[in-house]
Amino acid sequence: MNKRIWLSLAHMGGREQDFIKEAFDTNWVVPLGPNVDAFEIALAHYLGKERHVVALSAGTAALHLSLVLLGVSVGDEVICQSFTFAASANPITYLGATPVFVDSEADTWNMSPEFLEKAITDRMEKTGKKPKAIIPVHLYGMPAKMDEIIKIARKYKIPVLEDAAEALGSEYMGQKCGTFGELAALSFNGNKMITTSGGGALVCQTEEEAKMTKFYATQARDNAPHYQHSHIGYNYRMSNICAGIGRGQMLVLKDHVDRRRAIHRLYTDLLKDLNGVTVLQNPTIDFNSNFWLTCILVDPKQTKGVTREDIRLLLERENIETRPLWKPMHLQPVFADAPFYGDGISEHLFDIGLCLPSGSILTDEDILRVTDVMKRLF
Ligand SMILES: *Cc1c(COP(=O)(O)O)cnc(C)c1O
Repeated sequence: MNKRIWLSLAHMGGREQDFIKEAFDTNWVVPLGPNVDAFEIALAHYLGKERHVVALSAGTAALHLSLVLLGVSVGDEVICQSFTFAASANPITYLGATPVFVDSEADTWNMSPEFLEKAITDRMEKTGKKPKAIIPVHLYGMPAKMDEIIKIARKYKIPVLEDAAEALGSEYMGQKCGTFGELAALSFNGNKMITTSGGGALVCQTEEEAKMTKFYATQARDNAPHYQHSHIGYNYRMSNICAGIGRGQMLVLKDHVDRRRAIHRLYTDLLKDLNGVTVLQNPTIDFNSNFWLTCILVDPKQTKGVTREDIRLLLERENIETRPLWKPMHLQPVFADAPFYGDGISEHLFDIGLCLPSGSILTDEDILRVTDVMKRLF
């Protein structure tokens, strides 16, 4: 049997264990510490725009704390892109609020500005209240149309929380994803652009917000010699060991982004003659996706009947992992009662889309093996 080709594996740069050893040698085997500080500074420097970064235990924790900072609570509504991973929406419910889902647009696959505005005005009309926040997602690394989304958000004075978990290294109009919203969440899970084994970060615009994030992430302890609490806190800080991995990964982040983009170019070239198979591309020069995952759409009307599932199952038999696109949140049983604004784009993408193996660890030969198997069906 051929060796398995995975969708997106962790990819070490080589220096990670040096930073971990440093943590052991200095007995900083705790949440907080020099690796955490240095990792945060490296991330802030990478993002530019004078942002303040707080390293946390997961991207999901970053989204949760963002909503805490924005004052989301029981009975509120929060607008969220429907076409995403469940972790974008779940934290809304942790706070007793209700997600309102917005469909995607065809070119970026991300939040449709048109349906966003419809959702805002309709919710205000129906509930007499403004949604508390807007969560656009840069799915698969493709930037959402942040200029239009932010224009609408400003018009109604609703803060934007950017889910940039998949978009570290992506740029929109020359600006890094993760620096557009009032707040932004990053993820360093094992399958993301860089990993800390598990981890995330909250990107803040002000030092005050970063301070509040750290306060809530470390059990919300008041300033007193004993343990006193005036707020509900969380245990969400990143450990100094994980941050050591992150410091090592920052040294190879640029290589990882370059490699994922090269893999996307290679797929685009190798698949260009397959009728009915299209690879998601940057819609205009304003977009510069990190191409975290290379995604295709398979239109059976043009492939003489070959479907996404035919391709997925054949690749699986050849020991190659692929995955259907995210199932939209408004179609998830757990969110069956949540309001939704859209016209079926994300549902269609889910029906015909597939993520191809895209990890920066993959070789050109691996990619050729994937496309050679696919071509057998055509
Ligand atoms: C991975 C991911 C998250 C959650 O990040 P974790 O670090 O796994 O908690 C949130 N949103 C999106 C879009 C993701 O892909």
